[in-house]
This record gives sequence, C-alpha cells and structure tokens, in this order.
Amino acid sequence: MYDVIVIGAGAAGLMAAGTAAMSGRSVLLIEKMEKAGRKIRITGKGRCNLTNARPAEEFLEKVRVNNEFFSVAFAEFNNRATIKFFERLGVKLEIERGERVFPKSGKAWDIANALVEFCEDKGVKIVYKTQVTEITTIGDKVTGVKYLNARGFERREEASHVIVATGGVSYPSTGSTGDGYDFAYSLGHNIEPVRPSLTPLVTSHPQKEYLNGLLLKNVGVKLYIDNELRQEEFGEMGFSERGIEGAVALRVSRDAVDAIIDEKRVKLVVDLKPALDEEVLLARIEREIAEMQPSEFFSELLRKLVPKQLVVPLAKEVDFHSKTYVSKLSDAEKMRLVKILKGMVFPIVDYAPFQYAIVTAGGVCCDEVNRYTMESLKIKGLYFAGEVLDIDANTGGYNMQIAFSTGRLAGQLKK
Ligand SMILES: Cc1cc2nc3c(=O)[nH]c(=O)nc-3n(C[C@H](O)[C@H](O)[C@H](O)COP(=O)(O)OP(=O)(O)OC[C@H]3O[C@@H](n4cnc5c(N)ncnc54)[C@H](O)[C@@H]3O)c2cc1C
Repeated sequence: MYDVIVIGAGAAGLMAAGTAAMSGRSVLLIEKMEKAGRKIRITGKGRCNLTNARPAEEFLEKVRVNNEFFSVAFAEFNNRATIKFFERLGVKLEIERGERVFPKSGKAWDIANALVEFCEDKGVKIVYKTQVTEITTIGDKVTGVKYLNARGFERREEASHVIVATGGVSYPSTGSTGDGYDFAYSLGHNIEPVRPSLTPLVTSHPQKEYLNGLLLKNVGVKLYIDNELRQEEFGEMGFSERGIEGAVALRVSRDAVDAIIDEKRVKLVVDLKPALDEEVLLARIEREIAEMQPSEFFSELLRKLVPKQLVVPLAKEVDFHSKTYVSKLSDAEKMRLVKILKGMVFPIVDYAPFQYAIVTAGGVCCDEVNRYTMESLKIKGLYFAGEVLDIDANTGGYNMQIAFSTGRLAGQLKK
C-alpha cells in the first residue's frame, strides 16, 4: 500500500510524484512507456522551452481557457519557481527571445532526466511499461488502481491518493492516449470535448503544392472567421505536407480549429511585407522596375521581392503570366501586386490531427476540480495535473509550466 499513486511520468506526473515524496509520503509513479518523459524529450524541437519568464499577468493572458482556475496553481509554483527548481537541480538555463526559457545545453533530455533524478532522490518508486487500467474506489473515496504489469498481467495496488497525470491525446506515440479522460469520466467527471490545438492548418489554396517546404520569416498573419478579423500575429510561418505551420500559424490555430468545428469560414491573410505600407511597397516595386531591362520578365521582378518558391504561386495569384515583360505592367497591375503582397489569402478548410498537435484543448472540466488543491470535487483522494485538465496555452513555454504548476499543487495533497 502506498500513500500516493501517480499515473503518468510526464512533466506533471514527475513533478507531482517528487513533490508528494518530499513530505515523507510513500509514492508509486506508474508509467506505461519504457521511459519517463518521452514528450518532454521532444519539446521545443528537442530543446525544451520549459517556461516563459514574462510577468504573471502577461503569462496568464497566454493561457487560453480556465486561466483563473490555473492562476491559483501558478501563484503556488510560478515561472520563477520553475527556473529556481531546475537551477537547484543543476540544470543551467537561459532566456531567449520572447522570454522563452531553455536549458543552456540545448537538450530537452536534461529537463526530463533532472525530473527523474528529483523523483529518485526523494524516494519515489517508478515502474515502467505498466499501464493503469482503472482507478478503484469505495463510495466516493479512492482506494487505488488496477494495472497491467510489464508482462501484461492485471494487478492491483492500494493508495489513499491517486494523481491522474496522463496528459492529453496529442502525439500519442509518446504515451499520451487520453486514458485519463476515461478514468475521470467513469468516476463521474465531465470531459470538455477534446480537439487538437497548436496544430498545422490545412489550406485549399490552389498553389499549395508549390509551397511545401517554404519557410517565411517575419510575416504578418491575420485570422479571419466568417470574414471578421479575430487575431493578428507576426513571425515565422512554414508550409509542409501537414499544412501551414510555424509559430504564427500555430498561435492562430486554437481559434481556427474551433471555428472549423463550428463550420465557420476561416482564412489566413498573410502580409508578406509587413514592414512596408502599400505606398512604400509600390515605390519599391517602381524602383525595381526602373532598374530592370524592359525585356525582363515579371517573374524576375517577383524574384527580387519574395523567396524563389513563392514566384510561381504569386504570379498565378496576380494572374499574370510569369513571362510578361515588366515594362508592360500597368499602374493598376502594379497595385494588384501590392495588394496581394500585403494580403495573400489562404482559405483554411481543415486542421492536422492530434498526431501533429502540440497540445490538446479540452479535457477534465475544471469546474469539478478544487483549484486550491487539484482534488476532484466528486471523489476524495483523486487529483488531476497537467494536460489532462481543460487548460491549454499558446506556444512559448506556457504548456510545460501548466504541467509543472498543477503537478506541484497536486503533489502537495492539500485537503
Ligand atoms: C512536439 C511537441 C513539442 C512541444 N514543445 C513544447 C515546448 O517547447 N514548451 C511547452 O511549454 N510545451 C510544449 N509542448 C507541450 C507540452 O509538452 C505538454 O503540454 C506537456 O508535456 C504535458 O505534460 P503532462 O505531464 O500533462 O502530459 P504528458 O507529457 O503527455 O505525460 C503523460 C504521461 O502519462 C503516461 N500515461 C498515459 N496513460 C497512462 C496509463 N494508463 N498508465 C500509465 N501511464 C500513462 C504517458 O505515457 C505519458 O508519459 C510540446 C508538445 C509536443 C507534442
């Protein structure tokens, strides 16, 4: 019999287990994969953007849903506390553009390994390749879990506290397959419908095949839903066979996905020249043309303005033959080019599935969880932490911090 069983050795579960053990409790951490923190190890393109150093108010604005609920856990263990925590564990950190915090080594493994060492140091027993299949209860009280051990045999373990830290359903190959939603639902909890967030957006743009592999730095992106401007972002955007991705596209994806689900019309309008207004851009085009030979083609003008891969799609969009002579461009045609450079339209018709989504939106309804403890309001001794909860945020280190803050609070096992 243990005092505490934690299900899932991700960011939230490792933090919760180590924290619970700090107060002398016996803790069993059950992980179904062969090692802990598989998702942590691939975060931030292998570098792990573990938190964001912005002031609290700005930080909480980036949390897209239930940020008031989350603010209690954040006050208990905030971004500064996370930085201190890892530095104490010997991981040197650095703050980059946008206040994003990374390990100095550039290795996400250092974060995962530090968390495992933290747990081991505090005496947590970790078992791998072991899958919890049920949380057992008597009346409205937790009694333990049933699990399949590494040899596939069902066993039972008792505990007076169980912390569910099973994550969401994104990148299921890391072990996050939504088991926590089933546990919570079977114990009477409501689950806010889950959908992918921070996920590539699929466009029906007729030239999308030409764009695969293209990375645009410093573009402005506006998200329109039913022709209404909803969000404006600036930064990097890329195209792949999965869809439109890169930081700006991911940031607008949260609202875009919900709008697609609601069968609304969604489009991205991309400003390829955000530093120049229309007048200045027109003057730049006139200048380029003046410096060109009259016999040079429109495609050569485009080449001076945009990356090579955009030349054909842009020429088609402006509806000029790329072999049109620059000297033949009328004022109206130059203006059409300006308008398209300042607002290339990408209709969005779908989103990439969970397999490619950085986080899961939706999850265990926060209304049924005590925000001061993370304990279930329905079952005594049952706690939740991390992405399994209906809390998600933008890119920038916020989602890991959600896991750390809620994991820390749950691990304190407050009543
Ligand atoms: C590619 C990628 C990059 C990302 N980069 C960043 C980033 O740089 N910064 C950031 O803030 N966020 C990032 N995120 C999001 C962030 O990684 C997650 O929000 C966070 O790791 C969630 O932690 P968690 O502990 O709640 O869940 P998970 O990390 O999903 O952990 C859940 C664990 O539970 C285990 N488990 C599940 N079911 C069972 C069961 N029945 N029995 C036993 N074990 C079980 C799983 O195997 C898993 O190990 C990224 C996500 C992805 C996919």
